[in-house]
Amino acid sequence: MKAVTLGAMPDELGYFGEFGGQYVPAELKAVMDETAKAYHEIRQTPEFQQELAELFTHFVGRPSPIYHAKRLSAQQGGAQIYLKREDLNHTGAHKINHCLGEALLAKHMGKTKVIAETGAGQHGVALATACALVGIECEIHMGAIDIAKEHPNVSKMKILGCKLVSVDFGTQTLKDAVDSAFIEFMRDPKNFFYAIGSVVGPHPFPMMVRDFQAIIGTEAHQQILAMRGQMPDVVTACVGGGSNAMGIFTGFLNESDVELVGVEPAGLGLDSGQHAATIAQGTPGEIHGFKCYLLQDEQGEPLPVYSIASGLDYPGVGPQHSYLKQIGRVNYESITDKECLDAFMTLSRVEGIIPALESAHAVAYAMKRAATMSPEASILVCLSGRGDKDTDFVINKLGL
Ligand SMILES: *Cc1c(COP(=O)(O)O)cnc(C)c1O
Repeated sequence: MKAVTLGAMPDELGYFGEFGGQYVPAELKAVMDETAKAYHEIRQTPEFQQELAELFTHFVGRPSPIYHAKRLSAQQGGAQIYLKREDLNHTGAHKINHCLGEALLAKHMGKTKVIAETGAGQHGVALATACALVGIECEIHMGAIDIAKEHPNVSKMKILGCKLVSVDFGTQTLKDAVDSAFIEFMRDPKNFFYAIGSVVGPHPFPMMVRDFQAIIGTEAHQQILAMRGQMPDVVTACVGGGSNAMGIFTGFLNESDVELVGVEPAGLGLDSGQHAATIAQGTPGEIHGFKCYLLQDEQGEPLPVYSIASGLDYPGVGPQHSYLKQIGRVNYESITDKECLDAFMTLSRVEGIIPALESAHAVAYAMKRAATMSPEASILVCLSGRGDKDTDFVINKLGL
């Protein structure tokens, strides 16, 4: 394995090896450069650091615990499985970590409004929560079809006081919500802040979102050492855009004996065409202003993707993941819908923890892998979120 100093990534232009960068028009590049500059200045200040640290402790409820899933481990008959409980955060997932960081940064930069798109509404709710707390205006664009489907999240966003914009053109789903939010942002990019929901998009977003999520890995490194007296053998997390995975991996990248595994959604199977396994089957390309592995057609257009977990169905992936794959520091595996559902039910019934369908991909991989390892070995899983949002769907799907 190649030795890497990953603390320094990305370079000044926002590249992780050949991935990342800023593939955007000049006007937007200027705005992104200004954001990068402000971020570098503001994040060093004691005011910003202290404000974020206090919110993590007293608002989010950090540090999130690590839980030794003894019954699940015994059932698999192999390695000890540990869960980093991001599902216990306020709002129920890891997304609040970077949404708070982005909302605070927007406020410190003197921005007047935070804008974003949302698909199933998870990013929208986390961002609306952060903006309510920080005291900054928030506008979320969401496809009309998604609005009809995602009642609880739509209600939460309204209650939290954000402006919800229904997108009635094109597919009326996430793809056009991105375009709609972007058009609004470009009306006044000096005063508005576009809050990207994962480690994707043009520089500096993959870096900033990673930095805000790195709290997961920083805590987990200390916690697992205190619990076991040594590093885990494997650390694993699900990968959509890749923010929860980058968050936990960052804490272990320089521990060269720790194997890191990102888990992508194989959907109905890798050869079915109905999946979102970007790293397994993608090729280098461009999407949303950055370069990464991409599921694309011959013209370089993103392909339609599918996963049972709506938070994982993105045809691109974070540029740092693309780089870590290329240098071989992280392995990427995939898990089917069926394996995901099985892990969802198993974790619920054996440990009393209902995971998000996204997180259940990582749990499924850990279960499979644990069975091949010795009981002295250990696997640490990032349990990115809780499954409340998925319970009705699973009941219908399994006919329970
Ligand atoms: C959004 C979401 C994900 C996927 O996003 P990443 O950026 O890949 O982490 C995973 N788990 C949960 C619970 C989510 O809400």
